Amino acid sequence: MNDRDTRHKQSMQKLKAHVDEKVAAATEQRGLLLVFTGNGKGKTTAAWGTVTRALGYGYGVGVVQFIKGMWECGERERLVEDPHLEVAIMATGFTWDTQNREADTAACHRVWVEAQRMLADPEVYLVVLDELTYMLKFGYLDIEAVKHAIENRPPEQSVIVTGRNAHRELLAMADTVTEMQEVRHAFNSGLQARRGIDF
Ligand code: ATP
Ligand code: MG
Repeated sequence: MNDRDTRHKQSMQKLKAHVDEKVAAATEQRGLLLVFTGNGKGKTTAAWGTVTRALGYGYGVGVVQFIKGMWECGERERLVEDPHLEVAIMATGFTWDTQNREADTAACHRVWVEAQRMLADPEVYLVVLDELTYMLKFGYLDIEAVKHAIENRPPEQSVIVTGRNAHRELLAMADTVTEMQEVRHAFNSGLQARRGIDF
């Protein structure tokens, strides 16, 4: 073994010891709350990636799409064929179009009822609340109601919340928070949202 190999071996052994220590320290098992936030692209696709992962093991999954429910979305088209997946969508146009606070609040509350049902169902292993952060920001949903439903979910159930500007109380509750940081986005160079890539 040359010097470089020896150094590599030593540093890998150190790394392994460090990882083993962390693995030994992680003894708790329960459902998680994950928040995917930030301005960069990837929040919703990361959530659907996790949905695919859970469905791969045959777990029950519930996805609630706030705001963008009426939009076309390739992953939903494909995965909705899975009998273990239930999708509830907010039945309204995008709020920028309708500009109708009353109708949007009512639509939000209707889909929130579905979300609450999923959040109380131990058969649902993973619940995704896609773009929920905006419901709190616009005041369509109350943070206390959201906190209550998430805190009282079945212990084995995990929840993913996506959207920009996540409420600080939601961030404080979360086990995992990932902030997607925008380095660049094609849209800002005048490139159109692309089918199969952006939706
Ligand atoms: P994706 O659905 O691709 O994972 P996202 O959930 O992180 O993206 P959203 O804010 O929900 O992002 O926006 C969804 C749509 O807007 C997608 O078509 C995405 O490509 C686009 N988008 C995401 N981030 C940006 C950005 N920083 N600038 C412009 N468009 C964006
Ligand atoms: Mg999104």
